[in-house]
Amino acid sequence: VNSRTPLIAGNWKMNLDHLQAVAFVQKLHWTLKDAKHEDGSVEVAVFPPFTDIRSVQTLIDADKIPFALGAQDVSAHDSGAYTGEVSGAFLAKLDAKYVIIGHSERREYHAEGDDVVAAKVQASLKHGLVPVICVGETAGDLEKFGASAVPVSQLEAALQGVSPKAEIVVAYEPVWAIGSGQAATPQQAQDVCAALRAVVAKVLGDEAAARTRILYGGSVKAANIASFMREPDVDGALVGGASLVVDEFAAIIRFEK
Ligand code: PEP
Repeated sequence: VNSRTPLIAGNWKMNLDHLQAVAFVQKLHWTLKDAKHEDGSVEVAVFPPFTDIRSVQTLIDADKIPFALGAQDVSAHDSGAYTGEVSGAFLAKLDAKYVIIGHSERREYHAEGDDVVAAKVQASLKHGLVPVICVGETAGDLEKFGASAVPVSQLEAALQGVSPKAEIVVAYEPVWAIGSGQAATPQQAQDVCAALRAVVAKVLGDEAAARTRILYGGSVKAANIASFMREPDVDGALVGGASLVVDEFAAIIRFEK
């Protein structure tokens, strides 16, 4: 994958058990025959629940399906007495490439603050996983501080101690746009993604900023993906609901600018 190859990432959240997952990935693969992800001009990644990862990995390995695999969360710890947690070492052993860190649902329902997010970013990099660092403002934040202040400060916190050489992905996901059907406008997405790229430049340097992919997420669907992909600082999409519908997700992957 070249730097800033568009990345279309499907966050399944807590949907599809391991049998449904295998059927879904097979169907998506067949629906995408001859699509541009086959030649590497777009990268597709799926983020199933932990219990599906082994089955999906076996399938994509056996059938040479060109999808990358990711997890939706990771422990900040390597191993030990952390009941219910999953180590980045285990995910790496299952060929997971990516891990979503700091999704707004984790921040909201599991009280994950910037310190936990930063620790999980460190844990993923330590185990050779690429963190997909999610940042975004709530509707209240938007009203009070404008669009970029909260995402910028969340990203600054997440990047503390990260090496300038590290591969990371950033996902700008306005909380008010997630699952609401009300996506940001392409201009709003561009403005915040540009501000986030400036954070990467400030913390990790210009080279990192030039090669780091910044995704937009929040009610992305086939009908609006192209408008986001036309923006210069939007390098892909993190897709929730629409990633669970084979034809819709396939149409997103087949976007034409
Ligand atoms: C998400 O939760 O990452 C997301 C973007 O969800 P949706 O596409 O359903 O808005």
